[in-house]
Amino acid sequence: PPDVERLGRHTWTFLHTTASYFPPQPSQHQKSSMLGLLRALPTLYPCGVCADHLGQYMKTHPPEAAVEKGREALEGWLCNVHNEVNERLGKDKFNCANVPQRWRDGWAD
Ligand code: FAD
Repeated sequence: PPDVERLGRHTWTFLHTTASYFPPQPSQHQKSSMLGLLRALPTLYPCGVCADHLGQYMKTHPPEAAVEKGREALEGWLCNVHNEVNERLGKDKFNCANVPQRWRDGWAD
């Protein structure tokens, strides 16, 4: 079985970075591609319990509206998804105001 911690860290890196480079005003094609990526995770993510939790979460917190609005809304939606997992695992919550610095712009010195 995969190393769930390592898989998680790298998947979050990919997802948050991709959200932070999603256009502020995405095209129809970019929106449908992003929705395809997110909707595939509960089916394909190679950690069964993680995938099941994510699928449940996405039923009550669907990504469509955030994807429709563009980058900032998507960054916020994904930050909330990750915080729900953090909470469940007893990890600290991340301040979602810091998402652009963490995943796109880099921290100030
Ligand atoms: P990670 O949680 O991997 O975070 C990596 C970095 O992201 C952090 O160092 C921080 O800089 C940044 N970060 C943290 N929170 C946020 C946030 N809210 N928004 C933006 N950036 C943030 N593991 C399980 O054991 N059970 C599960 O059910 C489970 N479900 C998962 C579901 C998904 C969709 C994914 C991608 C992973 C899941 N994991 C699960 C793995 C888990 O979330 C962690 O990735 C893993 O435990 C390693 O944690 P970490 O402390 O290294 O930091």
